[in-house]
Amino acid sequence: MKDTMCGLVKEVNAPSGLVYHTDLSIPEINDDEVLIKVHCSAICGTDLHIMEWDEWSQKRIKAPVTVGHETAGEIVAVGKNVTERKVGDRVSCESHIPCGECYFCKNGMPHICKNVKLFGCTQNGAFAEYAKIRWDCTFLLEDDVTDEAACMFEPMGAGIHGVEAAEVNGKTVLVSGCGPIGLTAISASKTFGAVKVIACDLIDEKLEVAKKMGADAVLNSAKCDLPAEVRTLTGGVGVDAAIDITGAEPALNSALKCLRAAGRLVCVGLPTKPITFHDMTDDLVYREVQLTGVSGRKIWETWEDFAKVMKGPYFKLDQVIGGRFPMKDFEAALAQIHSGVPGKMILYP
Ligand SMILES: [Zn+2]
Ligand SMILES: [Zn+2]
Repeated sequence: MKDTMCGLVKEVNAPSGLVYHTDLSIPEINDDEVLIKVHCSAICGTDLHIMEWDEWSQKRIKAPVTVGHETAGEIVAVGKNVTERKVGDRVSCESHIPCGECYFCKNGMPHICKNVKLFGCTQNGAFAEYAKIRWDCTFLLEDDVTDEAACMFEPMGAGIHGVEAAEVNGKTVLVSGCGPIGLTAISASKTFGAVKVIACDLIDEKLEVAKKMGADAVLNSAKCDLPAEVRTLTGGVGVDAAIDITGAEPALNSALKCLRAAGRLVCVGLPTKPITFHDMTDDLVYREVQLTGVSGRKIWETWEDFAKVMKGPYFKLDQVIGGRFPMKDFEAALAQIHSGVPGKMILYP
């Protein structure tokens, strides 16, 4: 093995952007960790926040840090306490590293651990040739899952988690927002037995892709009265469940009105500012609507479920990948993202 490696680092005194290095030290693992030779990693919205060094990043992250967390690779070394992983295992990584000690970890909810550490944020991550992580945050990949598909478990997992929370089997479902996570939620809803999936977005091209990923009906929310159309499509009742990927106030209010009484709104998208529910009395309280949030992925239910979705007839990997770049050309990948090219950008070290 070489002594040094390449990687993308958020530097201490660089207000924006990342710096590509070719002389980083290869991480040294402790007894509970594994060393991974990274095959490829996808760019996440979180990485963009870190690059811009916004308020969220300044609060949480200590530079310098090697970023990147949506990854696939092969284990090349294991710590001496590690018995359930071995050299040669192909893995992806759960970016939420739970403490194992808090109330939530001890009660089966490690994904909302109150002391959670973040791979590629609070500790070095996967935009590099090698990355290390605690072994129990790795997910073993089956041979028929490609490296690029493996990079999708972490980001798309939020959409899968939303579908799990919506309990879609036998139900009618509205998915608001048809970016990669919304598309994944659509295909997962169909895979897990939703009888009708209605997808909405503001952009017609995205709705065309939603059809390819399993949506039974698509509606452009900018061009129709969404609650009225949804009622027409559901025999006047409204949908059993709505999954919001947008985090946008108009979409959330509209989704509440699309739900039947005693339906459930699952919030996956993150509002970036305070939002108002316009008529909580009628939309939520009187109609006994349930409102729930999901955070990241359930460890490991969501991962197992996504593996099933990938093998199912609806999910199409090529529809959620936006481009492929050598890691040193990450600026070109960023330019694509900023010019509005949809889909995940994959970096190869
Ligand atoms: Zn991510
Ligand atoms: Zn914990």
